Amino acid sequence: MAEKTPVFNTPGVVLRTTDVGDRDRMLTVLTPEYGKLSVFARGVRKITSGSLPAAQLFAYADFTLRRGSQHCYLNEAAIRETFLGISGTIEGAALASYLCEAADELSVPDVASPELAQLVLNTLWTVSAGKRPRHIVKGAFEMRVAAIAGYQPDVAGCCVCGNEDCGARGMLDIMNGRLLCEHCYNDLYKEQVSQYIPADTPLTDEYGQTVLFRRVTPGVLRALRYILYTDPKRQFSFTVDGEDAVLFADACETYLLHHIGHGYKTLSFYKSVEGL
Ligand SMILES: [Zn+2]
Repeated sequence: MAEKTPVFNTPGVVLRTTDVGDRDRMLTVLTPEYGKLSVFARGVRKITSGSLPAAQLFAYADFTLRRGSQHCYLNEAAIRETFLGISGTIEGAALASYLCEAADELSVPDVASPELAQLVLNTLWTVSAGKRPRHIVKGAFEMRVAAIAGYQPDVAGCCVCGNEDCGARGMLDIMNGRLLCEHCYNDLYKEQVSQYIPADTPLTDEYGQTVLFRRVTPGVLRALRYILYTDPKRQFSFTVDGEDAVLFADACETYLLHHIGHGYKTLSFYKSVEGL
């Protein structure tokens, strides 16, 4: 007798597909209850396969799976949503590919991850609907997924003086996930910088460790607080414009990539099609 029920049902989102031979496909499916699952979909690419719509990248479906020793096997799948709007623009498709690749990397097999599954689903809905600016969707996803993976920054107030108002030139300490108001930042780092630093300049903190900062204006800070402290269902309902939008995008992307430890080809492609 197997310890786990050999056949089970779960909703899930397809984060990755790899064709195998002429008719089969390997899927990476993110589920709320079982985390990330590798699913071998035998014969799914046959034109007569009823499960084919659910075996596409970004598909959201109800899966009936059978456990094997290495991975799960697809018995059948009923599509709930194909997110057709994602492929309506190359920019949307590129963004969804990058975000799903990051979600794939940050999800864990057989560990329940309802928050991450919900975030991915909300994100795919939003990209598909095309009603929210992509820089908002991208930044909010990057910050939220970092938080869910255990890297939530404390942006409630300055980590030294506690002040919620960080001034026009507050700083996000990327590596330590904390905020410095402009006064405390200047006090701590005045010997290393004759004036406020440009982004990308690594400095040394009070413990001799290298630190990396991104500037956060009041507008950027409002956006970060919204993303991290609001109801996840309203994840993308904020605005950030002009210079703030550039700083916001840079801060969120740098924060996620720093904690993951590498970049993504899908991100480079997204940026190239956006002309960034
Ligand atoms: Zn302070």
